[in-house]
Amino acid sequence: NELRAILESLRNYHHFDFATRWATNEEEIATLWRLARVTQPVIRRANYRFRPLPVADDLFIPPESIGACVSRLQGILRQHDVAGSIYCHVGDGVIHLQPFFDMQDPQLLHKMKQVADTVYGHVLNCGGGIGPTRGCGLSRTPYMKQQWGEVYPVFQKIKRAFDPLNILNPGKIIEDDCTDDIWKFTQGRILVAFRSDNLANVNGEHNLVSQAIGGIQQQKPTGELLIREGHQDDHGPQPADRESPKDVSASFQGDLSSQSSLDRPVPALPLTSHRQDVAGSVSNEHPDGSAPLPRILETQLDWQPNLVADAVARCTGCGDCRINESQMRMCPLFRVLPVEESSPRSKATLMRAVLTETLPLQSLTAEDFRKICDLCVHCHSCRIECSAQVDIPLLASEAKAAYTSAHGTSLSDWILNRIDRLAAFASRFTPLVNWGLANRQTRWLLEKLTGISHVRKLPRLHAVSFLHRAARRKLYRLDQGSSKKVVFFVDVYANWFDPALAEALVAVMSHHGFSVFVPLQQRPAGTAAIASGDMNLARRNARVNVAILAEAVRQGCEVITTEPAAALTIIQEYPQIVDDEDSRLVAKHTHDAGAFLLTLLDNEELRTDFQPLSLRLGYHLPCRLRAMEVGQPACELLKLIPGVEVKELPNCCSGMAGTFGIKAENFRTSLRIGWPIINSLRDPEIHAAVTECSACRIQLEQGTTKPTLHPIKVLAAAYGLWPGGMQKLLQPGSPFLLS
Ligand code: SF4
Ligand code: SF4
Repeated sequence: NELRAILESLRNYHHFDFATRWATNEEEIATLWRLARVTQPVIRRANYRFRPLPVADDLFIPPESIGACVSRLQGILRQHDVAGSIYCHVGDGVIHLQPFFDMQDPQLLHKMKQVADTVYGHVLNCGGGIGPTRGCGLSRTPYMKQQWGEVYPVFQKIKRAFDPLNILNPGKIIEDDCTDDIWKFTQGRILVAFRSDNLANVNGEHNLVSQAIGGIQQQKPTGELLIREGHQDDHGPQPADRESPKDVSASFQGDLSSQSSLDRPVPALPLTSHRQDVAGSVSNEHPDGSAPLPRILETQLDWQPNLVADAVARCTGCGDCRINESQMRMCPLFRVLPVEESSPRSKATLMRAVLTETLPLQSLTAEDFRKICDLCVHCHSCRIECSAQVDIPLLASEAKAAYTSAHGTSLSDWILNRIDRLAAFASRFTPLVNWGLANRQTRWLLEKLTGISHVRKLPRLHAVSFLHRAARRKLYRLDQGSSKKVVFFVDVYANWFDPALAEALVAVMSHHGFSVFVPLQQRPAGTAAIASGDMNLARRNARVNVAILAEAVRQGCEVITTEPAAALTIIQEYPQIVDDEDSRLVAKHTHDAGAFLLTLLDNEELRTDFQPLSLRLGYHLPCRLRAMEVGQPACELLKLIPGVEVKELPNCCSGMAGTFGIKAENFRTSLRIGWPIINSLRDPEIHAAVTECSACRIQLEQGTTKPTLHPIKVLAAAYGLWPGGMQKLLQPGSPFLLS
């Protein structure tokens, strides 16, 4: 009755003219509550010239005045000739206003400031306030003096008393001089806001980016640097890597003897970092004299014209990626290092600053720039949770690749990116290598030489890789006559460190009548190489893999892999580094193995002849599988097994992030990120953890004495395809990873 009375009042006395809808069941109520969350992403993802910018957002108005205020806001938008979206939490008196600005308007920044001045001025004059839910950042600071009136000088005194050097959040809330430019890079902190009329011409920025990325080589006035679209071919590859896709196709069904990289001795490790200049370029000195720069800087990924500008322009600076709400993962680094540099937003800001020449182009190869980009571990959480879907990992990859093209890779990255070759070499001395990996002295030495943490548990190296086993079983022969066939992309971990997992997948797929094709020339996905900026290595691997997998797809195979990181690399990143029809074809047909099996369940083709297993499992959803937006296939499959209970572990990153947590410098940070999951595994009710990602399994076994299994192994055990395997895995206590 009360609600009806309010509605009547709104209609009859406040003359609001709108439709109403009563929600009476739980589903409808939940839909209404979700509205704000689902409408905002739709608005922000708009890939148009007009974009919503939160420059006059987050307003408080006394609830009784909200109707009149909304009408006035609509009038202000009309007055400035801009469209906008308005939604309110009416009961609390909170209004969110997002005007849509023309990104190519030469007067854009002037207009933004005018709208903000008028909106904020009106709200303050009505007895309202600014920033009730999101607080005050740089763009709202110029209005704080008016908002707080006579209290403001007290704020200033407190600020001066406790922060006389203005170190804490400089420029925010308390700022006497609000006339700075929009982008600043001051004292190592990135300041993002529009703060004066004297700003860069956005139209000009777009022209510059279009010219730069569109391949129009344009000499800068300094005569020093150019940006060129796309990469040049691989620079200085090892002889073993001079294998073109054509060569691979020719040996498509060859045997192990025709392999190029799997069994070759590892090239001698360099004593200094690798130097990979752009071919044919003439080096000059970095302004700080620290490292030579190529004269020509080029984008390392295959960007389409305007994509850089688009990726950067999509970021509205809303700051939603600076959160640590429990229902969202967002950035694992920002959760433990809550400063602007570790936020996803900072990477977009930096790239924008470079593209608009606010920062010099040389910044891309500067140490500080690299350090900030290293605070992205390419988990892709922000890409799927950012309402504008800004591809931050892509921007970070481009920046890291530019740095690597000038400085080469660090020794630890060089090793971790080529772990397959090292494993192939070391497999000749497996007992010695495994002894060394378990010995404290040799691990200490390894850390000093390579930066790989001496306390990190490392998996046992196997003398015979899965690809060798597949060769013996002649799995490299594609069964042309079979109507159900898959091509298995193995990747490094299952090949050298967990061949039992690869065997389990082959067994499960065969159990369902699939012919499993294992091409022996496949290379590692290159996930670690992409994350460290070694695009030349990543591109070489990608070309070989794409050629092999595309041929298999054309012959009727779907690509499956047990490694979510590899699947995401193929789906998301290969088309960015090998921009051709084949890479897109392969991306379209690649699946996580669990997700593929789940489609069998949907089609009522999944076999359910499970043997009961008495197991309580804690399931962790890896970030990169989550980024594929396929749900939690393993959870659904494991729950079908009689006797198996699955408990979902806390929704956060494990902290391992590929090779990030292996390095000594990141070890503690890595454990801090993954602590909620590790801690929850101490529940005595849980027998073992399950997760698809090999790096996550290493991390979870680091913090507990319980094994962490790949769900495919549990399925294989339940199908009776892995006799004795489960009992062996559930024995705790070993210096090596068993699972
Ligand atoms: S990257 Fe962050 S600041 Fe930029 S739009 Fe996405 S959530 Fe907002
Ligand atoms: S990809 Fe992951 S680590 Fe990188 S910025 Fe986004 S959330 Fe952070």
